[in-house]
Amino acid sequence: MKQFAVIGLGRFGSSVATALARMGCQVLAIDSDAEKVEAIMDEVTHAIQADARDEEALKAAGIRNVDVAIVAIGENVEANILVTLIVKELGVKCVVAKALNDLHAKVLAKIGADKIVFPERDMGVRVARTLAAGNVLEHIDLSPDYSIVEIAASHRLAGKTLGQLNLRARHGIMVVAIKHGDNIVVAPGAEDVVREGDILVLIGPTKVLERLEERE
Ligand code: ADP
Repeated sequence: MKQFAVIGLGRFGSSVATALARMGCQVLAIDSDAEKVEAIMDEVTHAIQADARDEEALKAAGIRNVDVAIVAIGENVEANILVTLIVKELGVKCVVAKALNDLHAKVLAKIGADKIVFPERDMGVRVARTLAAGNVLEHIDLSPDYSIVEIAASHRLAGKTLGQLNLRARHGIMVVAIKHGDNIVVAPGAEDVVREGDILVLIGPTKVLERLEERE
């Protein structure tokens, strides 16, 4: 089982920590604010009050045993950068850091952050995509040009088999799964039928996926 540390328990950090814990992961949560620590104590494996700029405190908390550390300190950019550096130097293999802007992200990349996230910006993009596309429920970028999406099948796709829809030949899209209520067909075949309201998991070029319904 993977072990995580979440440093900084603001809105982003605390939701990452609780989500990981609910998925059954070991979570070490750290914040300098005693109230934040208290609030999350019952939800995570360990919750510790410490200033994460204190290397000794991080070591004592067992930071070196975690597989992934998430540096979710927000407004204090200096602390965010320092803590990312310390955690990386202490040997944590994967460090995910929250950035406030592009320049901050560049610094984080230079000091070795393995993944940089912009929670507000990323969420904004997700919400915009979902609203614009109407029927897109989930969207995962695979590369700048390719994505995996979950869409709710409308009447335009419904009532046809995958063979009839022929999405691969016509649009370069592969159907990975069809979800119908609690039932899921993984790697469906040409004879599988799409019904209205089914959730389709699709992989293909982002531009085509976003406009799939209009093209059908
Ligand atoms: P969000 O926008 O996700 O709510 P915030 O910047 O408001 O993020 O919250 C960041 C959290 O990080 C706060 O709970 C704060 O107490 C904590 N924090 C800030 N500096 C440190 C530090 N040096 N060590 C540990 N925790 C810190």
